[in-house]
Amino acid sequence: MKNYRSSNISHYFYCPKAYKLSLEYQKEQSEAMREGLLFEGYVFGKFKEDNEKELIGRKRPDTINLIKQKADLVKPLFIKGEPFRKLLLKTSDYTISGEADYVGTTLFQGKGIECIADLKFTGNMKVWDDLISLARKEDFIQAFIYPYLFYKETGKVLPFIYCVIENNFDNPLIKQIKFNTSIADFKWVSEMIETIHQDDFYYSNANYGTCVSGKYGRCSYLEHCNEGRNFIAGEIEMSLNNLS
Ligand code: SF4
Repeated sequence: MKNYRSSNISHYFYCPKAYKLSLEYQKEQSEAMREGLLFEGYVFGKFKEDNEKELIGRKRPDTINLIKQKADLVKPLFIKGEPFRKLLLKTSDYTISGEADYVGTTLFQGKGIECIADLKFTGNMKVWDDLISLARKEDFIQAFIYPYLFYKETGKVLPFIYCVIENNFDNPLIKQIKFNTSIADFKWVSEMIETIHQDDFYYSNANYGTCVSGKYGRCSYLEHCNEGRNFIAGEIEMSLNNLS
């Protein structure tokens, strides 16, 4: 039975083939991702996969101490709740799953509000500023799928908050992006997943904005995609007339 996750679904919008490839090829865990998981573990006082030692690897003790210090500054945002809350919806045709970093009371604009929260540890907040100014649904899929799954399980409609932490300074920059959600939004989510479920072609949308210069730069699945490879590589013929 097919399972849908927000991390894969987000690819579908710019290139259905990238969505399909994301199911087949897992991204390797980068150093930045390991630091993010360590940070998350220290903020919530537990590790998703009980793998602190593995994540520390060969990192120096002073690097770990810095991550811990930053985590201590972020901890007060999360007042009372459940970290790493699994979410699952089973339909007769497929399942939709996710794992929320945290469900509970979070400090936002000086008040504790009940929400689903996701912690993002980043080297540069600019990516998030760009996503906010582009304001495309596809870049914030998680903010609607997780509340949808939680609603289907509990009947409660909760907002979703991204807590983005830029790790460059000892006192990190913290940006919170709150998405208010409604039952009408959940209709959009279920219809979107149904559309993907009905697609069995997954066409490749090869162009500059998808293969070369997408949300995170070059498409992560280029190695495995002939259409993308042909678009980027191949032959070009030029003459002086083509030059300015
Ligand atoms: S390389 Fe281009 S066409 Fe291929 S999956 Fe990626 S975005 Fe789609």
